[in-house]
Amino acid sequence: MIVMKFGGTSVQDAAAIDRAAAIVRERLREKPAVVVSALAKITDQLLAMAAAAGSSDRDKALELSRAARERHYNTALDLLGTHAFEQIAPELEADFNSLDDLLRGVVAVGELTPRTTDVIAGFGERISSKIAAAAFSQRDIPAQHVDGRRCIVTDANFGKAVPQFEETNARLSQMVRPLLENGRVPLMGGFIGSTREGVSTTLGRGGSDFSAAILGAGLNAQRIEIWTDVDGMMTTDPGLCPQARRIKTISFEEAAELAYFGAKVLHPATLLPAIQKNIPVLILNSRNPQCEGTRITATAPKSKNAFKAIAAKKRITVVDVVATRMLMAHGFLRSIFEVFANHRCPVDMVSTSEVSVSVTVDSNESIAAIAADLGKLADVKYEGRKAIVCLVGENIRNTPGIAAKVFSAIPDVNIQMISQGASEINISFVIDEPDVPHVVSQLHRAFFSEVDPDVFA
Ligand code: ADP
Ligand code: ASP
Ligand code: MG
Repeated sequence: MIVMKFGGTSVQDAAAIDRAAAIVRERLREKPAVVVSALAKITDQLLAMAAAAGSSDRDKALELSRAARERHYNTALDLLGTHAFEQIAPELEADFNSLDDLLRGVVAVGELTPRTTDVIAGFGERISSKIAAAAFSQRDIPAQHVDGRRCIVTDANFGKAVPQFEETNARLSQMVRPLLENGRVPLMGGFIGSTREGVSTTLGRGGSDFSAAILGAGLNAQRIEIWTDVDGMMTTDPGLCPQARRIKTISFEEAAELAYFGAKVLHPATLLPAIQKNIPVLILNSRNPQCEGTRITATAPKSKNAFKAIAAKKRITVVDVVATRMLMAHGFLRSIFEVFANHRCPVDMVSTSEVSVSVTVDSNESIAAIAADLGKLADVKYEGRKAIVCLVGENIRNTPGIAAKVFSAIPDVNIQMISQGASEINISFVIDEPDVPHVVSQLHRAFFSEVDPDVFA
């Protein structure tokens, strides 16, 4: 079997869902299971509704919901025609009514909890998957809707829930495998799951890729296809640098570093389940399905280029901890990292000197509280609007002088922290966020003006 995942833009409207159906139909012989995202931008809108309700703006919340309802009804009607639309309309209506009830409830209680936020955020995939399943069935695909919340079992870390693989795999064997064996095409909304007790959760923004990988690993897929709006993984974000080239093949390790450091085309957790089962992951363009995309596998061919790609991760905060009092005290680093751990805040990059430690974290609402706790140990300052730029490639391991080449390509840029990754396949550094476009395009010009045709297209 194979897994095919269609992202938000690949199901954004009737035409897109129609294209997705055509792509799936081509692969019926390979027994696909399909994962879909919410229609493009809907998750953002659901979170905006939740926020509006949380701040007692009832009218705004319900107006946003009304607009989303209309968009889904129109999409479904366009896809299905009046007769088939009427068959699923009651279900769509029930979902939107329960969304509205929830929003009113949040307004009434005057508080938006992470738990309720996850229920609201999950409506996008719950509903898109029902519409896609109906549309696929009408287009000669024996689709069967599967509720992602019943298959993907997670912990209760709302907003970024962690899958519980043993339980999830058991449910996939129970609920999804029999459908495949009966010649059906299971179709499930990504991003959503629930705890063992049945409380709705989400896997974090962009998490439908992760759902696809969980499904692929749980069902021993031959490959996982991620269908999106670009031709594959590119040498950098094509939105940032139009000269970006497609990478034909890349290793799991390289792709994981890129995803982690901001290449939004793939959710950072996606590759873990695929790596464990050694399942190839393909990135493909639903608007250009003939293009062979990017193939991510355990080992990728050597490239003549120094790097495979450049990623940039914005919204970074740099926290500097200066501890003259604690000079060389053992246990000091541990006490610092304990503070981040207590706030469940992951740290990306670290640099140390004798008396100071700088770390980068994703900007988030806990920073002030983290700084206050760190302030009990040492002097602390923090600064947001930073970005990490990261160059990735296995050639870094054995190319002397490569860092010098990187920094001489951007002589005019203020660089704050530098790390040549422990994995030996990335060089990353921190800059001011507004410098990102300039830095990325300078580096791209320096390292990708000519590309190895065996590896890049
Ligand atoms: P989907 O909705 O299909 O999941 P996303 O918006 O999450 O799609 O990811 C696709 C987007 O990722 C592209 O449109 C592109 O702007 C961005 N992107 C960032 N870095 C890269 C990269 N290195 N290669 C390809 N796309 C990238
Ligand atoms: N719809 C979710 C999001 O926008 C998940 C996804 O698209 O992968 O984050
Ligand atoms: Mg995505």
